Amino acid sequence: MSRIRQLPIELINQIAAGEVIERPASVVKELVENSLDAGAQRIEIEVEEGGARLIRVRDDGRGIDADDLPLAIAAHATSKIASFDDLERVTTLGFRGEALPSIASISRFALTSRPAEQAHALRIEVDGGKPGAPKPAQHPAGTTIEVRDLFYNVPARRKFLRAERTEFGRIDELIASLALVRTGAEFRLSHNGKPVRLLRRAVDEAGVAARVGDLLGEEFVGQSLRIEHEGAGLRLSGWVGLPTASRAQADSQYFYVNGRLVRDRLVAHAVRQAYADVLFHGRHPAFVLFLDLDPLGVDVNVHPAKHEVRFRESRLVHDFLYRTLNDALAQTRAGAAAPVAP
Ligand code: ADP
Ligand code: MG
Repeated sequence: MSRIRQLPIELINQIAAGEVIERPASVVKELVENSLDAGAQRIEIEVEEGGARLIRVRDDGRGIDADDLPLAIAAHATSKIASFDDLERVTTLGFRGEALPSIASISRFALTSRPAEQAHALRIEVDGGKPGAPKPAQHPAGTTIEVRDLFYNVPARRKFLRAERTEFGRIDELIASLALVRTGAEFRLSHNGKPVRLLRRAVDEAGVAARVGDLLGEEFVGQSLRIEHEGAGLRLSGWVGLPTASRAQADSQYFYVNGRLVRDRLVAHAVRQAYADVLFHGRHPAFVLFLDLDPLGVDVNVHPAKHEVRFRESRLVHDFLYRTLNDALAQTRAGAAAPVAP
């Protein structure tokens, strides 16, 4: 008697969704990252009821060819890599080809897209993983994805959605984390029809600083050191918050590896050590830091949600981070700046 069966594709996608789509903010992350990978310079995110009712992401990126439309929503289909070699060198935010089919399997989903050189847009709707036929539609060059009634067919997940304000807060925080690193793109975010954020394209250093001020507060910009340091094939840049910019909570810590926000133990350890002498116990540093290195030196394919990375030369990275930050903070120690009391 045979016991093993091949799972239907909708179920495969729903299982994949379980790993990456925890809440509405995860959908926004995947969609906005796709827009950025498509070279978008303007991204508009509309959210209703904390994302449970509607998430609509509209971009002016490269669009999806008519022929590619069914593939965009097919599992393990991607335009971003084609080989293991590409995977090791990947510079796009996405590469797994799982986000759209996953999201479409747990929502009422619609994708409308038009590459600039195509006369008409096409729209494809997918209901709980079941795709309809693509239909002609009106759309400027770019892509719009609509996700309605997230988890409508996954009651266990739907039940765990938090209050509308909480879920929207996560989305807002997610947009902030992408806008901090993608300063060349404009982001607009609205909730229940009300504009919440308008972050205009930064074209120069002043614009970048203005965006950081917008997202982390002007005080942070005033109370941080702008750093840029290179060595051993590594480059660390960004804003190192001074002790005066420290917080009671660790809620203003942004660390990017090759443009991707990560939560890494090794990184956290190096940062903590560098701040150890200048911060009182219980205070948390604020920082926005960008580590850039050869993609071959870091594995981003550790977890489906890609929050974690693995460095090939972890000791080297750790020491570089510690030394660079420690040297920067030493300037504050040399002056009168004693640790600031909580
Ligand atoms: P991945 O991003 O890992 O490739 P996704 O499921 O997120 O997988 O997307 C599948 C494909 O659909 C992408 O590789 C890309 O070619 C296309 N795509 C998705 N979103 C957009 C977009 N906003 N603009 C242009 N192409 C897109
Ligand atoms: Mg993607």
